[in-house]
Amino acid sequence: MTRVINDIINSKVIVVKVGTSTITHSNGKPNLETIEKLARVLVDFKNQGRNIVLVSSGAIGIGRSKIGLNRRPETVREKQALASIGQVSLMYIYSKLFGEYNQVVSQVLITKDSIENSKAKQNATNTFNMLFEYGCIPIVNENDTIATEEIEFGDNDTLSAVVAELIGADLLVLLSDIDGLYNKNPKKCEDASLISVVQDLSETIIDGSDDTDNSFGTGGMKTKLTAAGICSRSGIPMIITNGNNPENIRKILKGQRIGTVFVPKAYSIKESSNNL
Ligand code: ADP
Repeated sequence: MTRVINDIINSKVIVVKVGTSTITHSNGKPNLETIEKLARVLVDFKNQGRNIVLVSSGAIGIGRSKIGLNRRPETVREKQALASIGQVSLMYIYSKLFGEYNQVVSQVLITKDSIENSKAKQNATNTFNMLFEYGCIPIVNENDTIATEEIEFGDNDTLSAVVAELIGADLLVLLSDIDGLYNKNPKKCEDASLISVVQDLSETIIDGSDDTDNSFGTGGMKTKLTAAGICSRSGIPMIITNGNNPENIRKILKGQRIGTVFVPKAYSIKESSNNL
């Protein structure tokens, strides 16, 4: 455990994913206070010499509020059109708030097929590296406007893990509307308790985490556990923590144990061989 905490503290390339419910109010309008705090914390990490990628949801919710739609979009074309409207506002807000700290951001829209094709994968990696050289914080989202069921990630939890793998990140932080992974859904069961460390991603944990029950987010814990699986395979530690207070990430990078830490398989192998 000490080893993974040390690696988290020293991580040089960090992917942070933020969920819709963290950056929007329940009516879909942007939560400027949280986005402002997030921008400040992430720019500060950048100032420490770390490279940061932000994977942000929220485009469909913001698109809804922008056109005053008071119900969840049902059809694919509705969702894609709302994402197209909302993505502009989302990037405008990020550009403005990161810009207050003189931080340049860029927009990277990704579809699953582009990552599966090896040439496109290489292009994406090269682009991220060039953006880092330019001192930029890339802001990633799924390209909702063109993604169809066959080519979509379907949620940004999985996308953020794939991006972490792609750029060889040292850490993935998922900012959620909840403190971490519980042994059962705390929104439904009062006696649920927080799991602070996951060393082994067993089927049992995955079965216990049903889908989300809020009106904007999609994914829930199942997709976060899929993300943890991808990270574990690539040797990348992953943390789920509450995004209501973006300062949590600062505390995590100082070694405090907040939320749920997912320790990649490689660490237990390393630690047990060290004990031999
Ligand atoms: P976000 O986009 O903010 O990450 P999600 O709605 O995708 O939010 O996922 C978080 C939600 O997952 C929680 O609010 C909770 O309702 C649900 N959930 C289901 N099972 C669990 C669990 N075992 N532990 C924690 N949250 C759970």
